[in-house]
Amino acid sequence: MVQKKRLKTVISNLVLIVLAIVMISSIADAWRLETWKIGSSSLSFRVHQDFGTDSWGHMSQAAQKWNAEAGRTLISVSAIRHTNVNYPAKDSNNYIYRLDKGLKADYVGQGTIYLSSDGRTVIEADININTYHDFANSAQPNKYDVFTLVLHEFGHVVGLNHIIIKVGETTYDTAVMWPAQEHNKEKRDLKPDDKAGLAERYK
Ligand SMILES: [Zn+2]
Repeated sequence: MVQKKRLKTVISNLVLIVLAIVMISSIADAWRLETWKIGSSSLSFRVHQDFGTDSWGHMSQAAQKWNAEAGRTLISVSAIRHTNVNYPAKDSNNYIYRLDKGLKADYVGQGTIYLSSDGRTVIEADININTYHDFANSAQPNKYDVFTLVLHEFGHVVGLNHIIIKVGETTYDTAVMWPAQEHNKEKRDLKPDDKAGLAERYK
């Protein structure tokens, strides 16, 4: 009886160890990179003037999150606003737009990134926040958090692709670079996979 119990414990411990190894390996390579990165000069974004001060501040903080992790300024948010409505436009300006692209556009936020001829360096980027959807500067039912969305879009600009953490049949939406935006949710800090992807991109 005692021996049987012991055997059971040993088996369950083995199962736990195997599970732990699977989790570690699938989390470790969860990030994916785009082909590009920010070159030696950083990108400064101008925010559309119809965004309120809180949204502007949150966008600025979102840029800082990536910069802090990279150890240098990759992107920044300018105090100068813009009034353009022609998204996207290759016009040597990095703009954050707020245009209603409807439900058909099938996105909450979208980035358009222009690359150097070798495809490796970002020379310009535009982001549109699709105002067909409702936004807030905090977690609110049926609304998207502006900070969370812009942090994600900036992640693409600095060279990260989407991150899907899957362990067995379960997916975890913890990463900032998780492909979907969710209502009533704040994800304002970079997670280990976001950080690992950035470190790989700028090593
Ligand atoms: Zn995305």
